[in-house]
Amino acid sequence: MGLKGDKVVKIDCLLCGETITLPEYVDKEQYDGEVRCENCLGRLRVRLAGSKVRKYKVVSEPKAFTYVDLVKLAQQSRQESAEQ
Ligand SMILES: [Zn+2]
Repeated sequence: MGLKGDKVVKIDCLLCGETITLPEYVDKEQYDGEVRCENCLGRLRVRLAGSKVRKYKVVSEPKAFTYVDLVKLAQQSRQESAEQ
């Protein structure tokens, strides 16, 4: 099993600044998808074309549902069912 080439694409994580090497399964010629930073576990949306990074941005910062969010959701669904 030899290397298929030396097209290694690296980007800097927008959240923590760590260098991310794109995984081998990523098609460097044509890719539009998510990459996870192993350092901060943040997700980045990356678009590649011709082995070059065309665009990338943060998909989402780590965020957990809070208790207040869950209560609001429950209240909303209750109101909806009461109106019917
Ligand atoms: Zn990161």
